[in-house]
Amino acid sequence: MNHAVAKPAVQRIPFLVGGEWRTGSAPALPAINPASGELLGEVGAAGPDDVDAAVRAAQAAQPAWAALRGHQRAALLQAIAAQIEQHAEALALTQTRENGKPLAESRQQAKSAAGIFRYYAAEIETFAAEVTPPRGDYVSMTSYEPLGVVAAITPWNSPLTMDAQKAAPALAAGNAVILKPSELTPQTSLALGRLCLEAGLPPGLLNVLPGSGADTGAALVQHPGVRMISFTGGTATGRAIARVAAERMIPACFELGGKSPQIVFADADVERALEGVLWGIFEAMGQSCVAGSRLFVQQALYPRFVEALVAKTRALRLGPPEDPHTQVGPLASEQRVQHVDTIVQAARRDGAQLLCGGARPAGAQFGRGAYYLPTILAGMRNDAAVCQTEIFGPVLCVLPFADEEDLVAQANHSEFGLACGIWSADFARAWRVARRIEAGTVWINTYKQLSITTPFGGYKQSGLGREKGRQGLLPYLQAKSIYLAT
Ligand code: NAD
Repeated sequence: MNHAVAKPAVQRIPFLVGGEWRTGSAPALPAINPASGELLGEVGAAGPDDVDAAVRAAQAAQPAWAALRGHQRAALLQAIAAQIEQHAEALALTQTRENGKPLAESRQQAKSAAGIFRYYAAEIETFAAEVTPPRGDYVSMTSYEPLGVVAAITPWNSPLTMDAQKAAPALAAGNAVILKPSELTPQTSLALGRLCLEAGLPPGLLNVLPGSGADTGAALVQHPGVRMISFTGGTATGRAIARVAAERMIPACFELGGKSPQIVFADADVERALEGVLWGIFEAMGQSCVAGSRLFVQQALYPRFVEALVAKTRALRLGPPEDPHTQVGPLASEQRVQHVDTIVQAARRDGAQLLCGGARPAGAQFGRGAYYLPTILAGMRNDAAVCQTEIFGPVLCVLPFADEEDLVAQANHSEFGLACGIWSADFARAWRVARRIEAGTVWINTYKQLSITTPFGGYKQSGLGREKGRQGLLPYLQAKSIYLAT
């Protein structure tokens, strides 16, 4: 007799192609809540036939969308923004249950996502063609046209804002979008797809294809119908996609990794600098591209500053992301915990001194959740592997510096160049150092201030191209110059 009990079927969540929901031909993705380790269900994944169907749906929908006037497209983006705002709480919960980000932060990001759609509605409504100076008997003009079908590929750390930062400008410009979310956060992107449909966006203009990078992502970027790639993720993945884009000679932009320096001069306002450094690394448990993960403190201040920082780090309240008292939550998955711990233990074997953290937290309340203690390492040189590799987790490396020359040399000694924080009461010095640091964003006496109006992107291996602001619209357009004989 067979006593085997049938496992209850897990719900398979469908994805969006051309306004219809399908479960896909690739192996489904498990949906695991990182705060509890609980399997919540599974999400259908797109195989090559689904990718092809999405590209065809996008190609069919795009010309009519591109033919609309800017203000007409803007009206739809405004409707999407309103829809996001109305469902902000549900969106925030979905993201938090997928990636473990504290709910308060996800709420903030849901609001930002609406703001991003509003901003690009305004951009496209006011975007003008240029009349260029004639050098003969003609009128010459440069106008801007969409590219067609855009592949937007996003990571798991902040899908609410990352998706919006690609979908809003790409749609505003008159393109159709195929969004490929991370394996860890497909439901957040699917929720955005559903809200866009409900807001009245014609089917086919935003398709959402969950799946692995190796299968779904690779099939998407290689599809001949895709005319542009907008990628945010790790530098190694970015390089692989750049090779495909080069072979196909299609435009692509890249928002990649970082190992951003936080610089504290001895004359800094110590309390403000401590808060800025603490949250610069441990907000979102360091799973932020701009995490300030290398801390340089001027020698005279170093002992006092590091001691106070360690005390503040030990006092951080670690807990479930939906608890309003939680300051730092879990990492996005058990694999991320293992990844971070492997790097921390290797650094210790290489001689790094552990000032705090460096282990999973003790306590039954953490159960099978993906928790790791906020960690500070000291005593290594800036060229040590742990100071040069992006960890993308709650690990801060602290290093002393002697003077401005020493500091600039150390801070710039990195393959990355995404962001930098400078803390000093001497405005002229902060300004001078800001100009010398190789980074796409420099903050002075603040950190992680971000605005949709202001371009964002990386120097060196941190990326190519810019998102946000008017510069964030241009990659989704191509210039056409017309001469009219007079
Ligand atoms: P990742 O590179 O592993 O994956 C990013 C996305 O690419 C995922 O959707 C993945 O499925 C897809 N992908 C993987 N291989 C692919 C392939 N061959 N072809 C097409 N798609 C493929 O990155 P991650 O772990 O999801 O995210 C963390 C990284 O993202 C960090 O390096 C972080 O710094 C970076 N990031 C950068 C920014 C920025 O704005 N600069 C913002 C957020 C995150």
